[in-house]
Amino acid sequence: MCRKLEGKVAIITGGARGIGFSIAECFSSNGAISVIIDLEQEAVDEAVQMIDDAGFSAVGFAGDVTNPDSIAEIFKEIHKEFEKIDILVNNAGITRDGLIMKMKESDWDVVLNVNLKGTFNCTQKVCRFMMKQRSGVILNITSVIGIMGNAGQANYAASKGGVIALTKSSAKEFASRGIRVNAIAPGFIKTEMTDKLPKEVVDKYSEVIPLLRMGLPKDVANMCVFLASDEANYVTGQVIQVDGGLIM
Ligand code: NDP
Repeated sequence: MCRKLEGKVAIITGGARGIGFSIAECFSSNGAISVIIDLEQEAVDEAVQMIDDAGFSAVGFAGDVTNPDSIAEIFKEIHKEFEKIDILVNNAGITRDGLIMKMKESDWDVVLNVNLKGTFNCTQKVCRFMMKQRSGVILNITSVIGIMGNAGQANYAASKGGVIALTKSSAKEFASRGIRVNAIAPGFIKTEMTDKLPKEVVDKYSEVIPLLRMGLPKDVANMCVFLASDEANYVTGQVIQVDGGLIM
């Protein structure tokens, strides 16, 4: 089997479940050491154990992407242990849906804080290490909603649109130091996040997806493996949709 990420050290935020866990599994099965960061220690330990049980490498830390000081400490510890950080996947994300007319200020703030500022915090803390080593890959998980907008998700759409702008800005800022930054925009992917949606909404979207199904976390993870690998050496500042053709 061709292991595309042999020996790479890869941090995945929100990596204990859903798309993040699938990315960690795929990275590890491609030879990387996945470093899972997520809110709950127990969830982190379980995720690490599952990858370990499959015969691959992973470690984990409980951490919150909205807390820059704690993220800085965790990244320092990772760097001390492995002497490098090759890949960061900014995957942690949340939704607090509601119409603009009724949206609580706290729902706006928390979504922007986790999805956009959390991505900035981790990017800022990791870039110090990547700049010194003059190499690195940052992958930001945005969403098709950040491109097309969605009624009832103004906060989420704004945060994910912001992630796209942050991706392009950091790609321009870091390119000369050998650091590539790309965004992946999943469509409708089957995880706990979308399990919360009413069945009618899921059916409606599945019908209009040209490939006629919701995506799987693995569909997103496979794209992340490619973008994180040396095969994507000439790709930076891009937004790659993994959406079954939902928007084109
Ligand atoms: P899930 O809700 O299944 O998983 C998200 C993970 O992130 C959870 O483990 C969660 O922890 C963790 N997390 C939440 N807040 C923080 C934080 N502040 N710091 C660290 N970790 C945190 O989501 P998905 O797997 O569905 O989504 C992953 C990413 O993909 C998100 O950015 C999402 O916006 C994006 N996306 C998802 C799509 C989908 O259809 N599912 C479509 C497009 C984009 P806990 O469980 O403790 O809350």
